[in-house]
Amino acid sequence: MRPARALIDLDALRHNYHLARSRHGGRALAVVKANAYGHGAAQCARALAADADGFAVAFLEEALELRAAGIDQPILLLEGVFAPAELDEVVRHDLWIVVHHAEQLRIIDHARPALPLEVWLKMNSGMNRAGFLSHELRPAWQRLKDSGKVAGITLMTHFARADEPQVIATTEQLTAFDTATRELPGPRSLANSGAILGWPAAHRDWGRPGILLYGADPMPDEPNGLHPVMTLESAVVALREIPAGAPLGYGGRFHAERATRVGLVALGYADGYPRSVPNGTPVAVDGVRTRLIGRVSMDLLTIDLTDLPDAGLGSRVELWGANIPVNRIAQAAKTISYELLCNVKRVRFEYSG
Ligand SMILES: *Cc1c(COP(=O)(O)O)cnc(C)c1O
Repeated sequence: MRPARALIDLDALRHNYHLARSRHGGRALAVVKANAYGHGAAQCARALAADADGFAVAFLEEALELRAAGIDQPILLLEGVFAPAELDEVVRHDLWIVVHHAEQLRIIDHARPALPLEVWLKMNSGMNRAGFLSHELRPAWQRLKDSGKVAGITLMTHFARADEPQVIATTEQLTAFDTATRELPGPRSLANSGAILGWPAAHRDWGRPGILLYGADPMPDEPNGLHPVMTLESAVVALREIPAGAPLGYGGRFHAERATRVGLVALGYADGYPRSVPNGTPVAVDGVRTRLIGRVSMDLLTIDLTDLPDAGLGSRVELWGANIPVNRIAQAAKTISYELLCNVKRVRFEYSG
């Protein structure tokens, strides 16, 4: 059997959820959209079911997967509904919905839901992606109230730059939100992972931790007590010595500076490891750091074992996990941990804890 696997540590996931909730205070929706950032939504939600106050996913189908997996906590649809028919499913499966633009108000106006809806009304406080502007918020709130179809309204917004502790944008968004919502009652939810860690003023009734749960800090330079949840690993499946000056792999991107012992590892970009990382990107072989050399190919990659004489066929190779932070690989690939984690596929997933 091919040795490529993603090991998912569910104890670490629970640890991180509790850390996020205690840093934030109040209640916390565990964000498990996009298959729990690539970790397996049903498994992660089940592992958190006894602890989490609720879950958040992007859209209806993701929520139905959790209901089918036996999750009966509240589930919020962060994008809300896309068509009137989805509201029947929302009621049938007891889901909560975000309302972030006028078309969704119209859908509710024309609907006859069998039970009142639980709505999270989203304000655009400066990100300018989704949500109602300050002058639209109060009329939207009133329209929902007057519809008689809404049980409760939570006020929410989302930050564009909460992972940048130095910039003023988050303070401006906070002020915009507080000003626009001053006279509106009801619970509030502002903080994603960055704001949970970095912006105490944004802590209100509900936090919405996502990437934090998976142990990848959105502000990687600060120590934080998070435990990585995913270990992406494979093994050395072949060995070869190449002389100084010899090229290695596609494009001959790497040339051996000295006689080099090359380990061939069964994992490639089709498994979600980024092709864009340079020579020298760290990997850990049986817990010892060495470097990736040559281009990552679809099914395989190559590493330098010259200084690791004990390593050989079958040696365990960690691409990210406890020894190699996923943020380090994201930096090498000029992207963010979120994208790498979401893209893991084809490997076997094994759960513990
Ligand atoms: C994805 C998402 C989150 C979680 O963001 P993280 O940065 O992963 O914590 C929170 N709120 C909304 C609206 C989201 O779409």
